[in-house]
Amino acid sequence: MSTLFISDLHLSGERENITELFIHFLDQRASKADALYILGDLFEVWPGDDMIQPDYESSIIKMKQLADNGLPLYVMQGNRDFLMAEKFAEESGATLIEDPTIIDLYGTSTLLMHGDTLCTDDIDYQKFRTMVRDPRWKKEFFAKPNEERLAMTTKYRKISKDETAKKSMDIMDVNQQAVESVMSENEINQLIHGHTHRPAIHDFSVNGQSKKRIVLGDWFEHGSVLICNENGCQLEII
Ligand code: MN
Repeated sequence: MSTLFISDLHLSGERENITELFIHFLDQRASKADALYILGDLFEVWPGDDMIQPDYESSIIKMKQLADNGLPLYVMQGNRDFLMAEKFAEESGATLIEDPTIIDLYGTSTLLMHGDTLCTDDIDYQKFRTMVRDPRWKKEFFAKPNEERLAMTTKYRKISKDETAKKSMDIMDVNQQAVESVMSENEINQLIHGHTHRPAIHDFSVNGQSKKRIVLGDWFEHGSVLICNENGCQLEII
């Protein structure tokens, strides 16, 4: 048996093949796993749990089916779908987990994050993140009419795409110091995150102690899955 980790599916009506791939993956792979963790950006936009986009329904129904059949299913918010909340959890059968969360992965304490908080060199993004995570901002946002909320979410998505095209690759990657800090604060030797869309397993050492940072890939052209069991973890393309 194994535990599966995925992130950055960015499900959207514009890429129906990825929704189909996700549903196939849930049916064929996740249904046989010990647990499935989705570490953020499952959805491309999320204007609120009361405005679930029709394009997302088939995925949510399938998630619920698996959860009802006993699959432990955990979902973390990403920077796209950070407004996912309790109603989504109820409808999908998923348990929402905090960013960061520590789990026991076959005997190895492992820190799970979406990864955006590690990109500390991207100062503009960090400012934006602070703004939209403020409870006062959320309260004002949810007081707006539905169409305006959807328009705002779409606008943020466009700004983010334009900004991303302008920024250097280095700025948008994680900051190694931020990685080492969060790992030592939490007394952890293994970290799994997504967000940067740069799938890799990085081995490094801090003060003679071996550390591992595993980065999940996105689902733009195909799927990226991390499969972990008693013997370790490996990244796979599906
Ligand atoms: Mn992200």
